[in-house]
Amino acid sequence: GSTTTLSADEDNINVVVRVRPVNETERSHGEREILEFPGKGQVICPGTVTGQKHKVFSYNVVFEPAASQEDVLEYSGVKRLLEMAVEGFSCTAFCYGQTGSGKTHTLSGPPGLIESGASPYSSEHGLVVRSFVYLFQLIRDRPDCHFILKASFLEIYNEKVIDLLNPGTSRKPLQVRWSKESRSFYVENLFTVDCEELDDLFAVLEEGTRNRAVGAHAMNAHSSRSHTLLSVRVRRDVRSERDVTCSTHGKINFVDLAGSEITKRTHSTGKTLEEANNINRSLMVLGYCIAQLSDGKKRGHIPYRDSKLTKLLADSLAGNGVTLMIACIAPTRSNLNETVNTLRYAARAK
Ligand code: ADP
Ligand code: MG
Repeated sequence: GSTTTLSADEDNINVVVRVRPVNETERSHGEREILEFPGKGQVICPGTVTGQKHKVFSYNVVFEPAASQEDVLEYSGVKRLLEMAVEGFSCTAFCYGQTGSGKTHTLSGPPGLIESGASPYSSEHGLVVRSFVYLFQLIRDRPDCHFILKASFLEIYNEKVIDLLNPGTSRKPLQVRWSKESRSFYVENLFTVDCEELDDLFAVLEEGTRNRAVGAHAMNAHSSRSHTLLSVRVRRDVRSERDVTCSTHGKINFVDLAGSEITKRTHSTGKTLEEANNINRSLMVLGYCIAQLSDGKKRGHIPYRDSKLTKLLADSLAGNGVTLMIACIAPTRSNLNETVNTLRYAARAK
């Protein structure tokens, strides 16, 4: 691994909020935007019928419904993550929020865009494709270095890891193991693709997205219960003055999390304890790890090992990494309870 470390006073978890616009269905039911944005990264939620007072939450940045995909690239801080990945850090950007709040839209754009084979320069693309474009820009800016990019794309459903680039061969879930050598967790036999240019990365995204859609079709509500993890490893070789080659090994992860409402839903649908536990585990443990980390308890026990997802994100959550949380919320009253839950979760992560 790389030898770079973060200075202690630097924030390694950043939290931003994105609010989606009111959609057609909501509008036809007479719903409207009920959140207020007084500026300075603040969101005001009105009181609920159950008598809760209105609440003010504040974050690094709040993207209001009119914000564009380009705004999210420019102002979320993801560019810094990409710059750090090139420098040898492990970085993660993840979207958290209830189903329908805009997680997939924020990362991948509107439904079907990626699979439609749109150009990587289409203005509708989400954060992932825009980040790919920026990553290659960073690489072009360093003609003195040699880069090797390797991409993988997986899904975690019910604590089983499925390779989205190679799902057909066996359907057998892959194992997550610890590597003594790199001192990190990895997925055994995970398919990785060498990406020399933007189109290669784009093809990985397209292939994985298609395969995810197939799985989602086979099982109702699958996509709201699964997490996807797209990972790009960035190796950089720098030739120094004395003709010695130094390498850094960075990484950028993009995570589209399961809907945050599943915690309650699984408790109420009579699932067996194990099923309920597993469906929730990665999401619950992630929340717990992040709360611990941002509590300044970095030297205490952080339970990365308690879920598949947190094992795979451990190096970017702690130590050698930076994490960006994008909390996605809907603007209408019918979503208010979930919105408050998400804003609380996000506030805890700061
Ligand atoms: P999630 O992945 O959180 O379940 P989606 O990203 O699928 O939610 O969003 C639900 C619907 O709302 C999709 O049709 C999506 O395109 C639309 N949507 C979400 N966010 C926005 C946005 N910022 N602008 C326009 N449409 C959006
Ligand atoms: Mg989604």
